[in-house]
Amino acid sequence: MTVRRQPNPNSESVDNYLKAILALGGPEENRVASNALAQRLGVAPASVTNMLQKLAAGLPPLVEYERHRGVLLSDAGKRRALEVVRHHRLIETFLYEVLNYPIEEVHEEAERLEHFISERFEERIEAKLGYPKMDPHGHCIPAMDGRMPKENSVPLTHVVRKATVVVDSISDRDAAIVKLLRTTGIVPGAQLRVRGRHADGGHDVSIGSSVKVYHLSPEAADAVKIHPPP
Ligand SMILES: [Zn+2]
Repeated sequence: MTVRRQPNPNSESVDNYLKAILALGGPEENRVASNALAQRLGVAPASVTNMLQKLAAGLPPLVEYERHRGVLLSDAGKRRALEVVRHHRLIETFLYEVLNYPIEEVHEEAERLEHFISERFEERIEAKLGYPKMDPHGHCIPAMDGRMPKENSVPLTHVVRKATVVVDSISDRDAAIVKLLRTTGIVPGAQLRVRGRHADGGHDVSIGSSVKVYHLSPEAADAVKIHPPP
């Protein structure tokens, strides 16, 4: 017979809410609308409202929430969100560098493990990796105290004319796109020549000095962040 554990207000799902609010709020830490949150987390708007009310009523409150005005992380919520992001990115780096996972597989593993590792494990991973600043997707790893440089990259989809740009980071959210970009040679640090924009919103690009032209779908182009062109 299997004994099912009573689901307590599950800390994994709390972590995922905090991370999503951090990501959607962006570097400006804007208020996040609850339907944007529902969409990102793939849950019903009513459950989002319910959870946000719980998070706002906790001790300490993890968010500031007013219906119709959206949600902000409290200081405690932001600290926890950054800690989970730090775990996530250190785990991804470890899987990639030490265990030789393909880059498109690290995110899913990290999504599971990020909630459970101890401070000690986190410190050991960090030391083993030589205190990395970036994960393999090109995202900054927050420091132990939560400090993290502000990201100032822009999506490739913002580039509307011919230009030469450098890839800053790749979104880790869609494994198929991460794999496609890796096999194309679109990785952090790669130089891209943007040849033009397609009617479908995608981009034609060449990598480095190659003349071969790749067509990126709008979704793939949106997953690539570049250093803002001058
Ligand atoms: Zn990831």
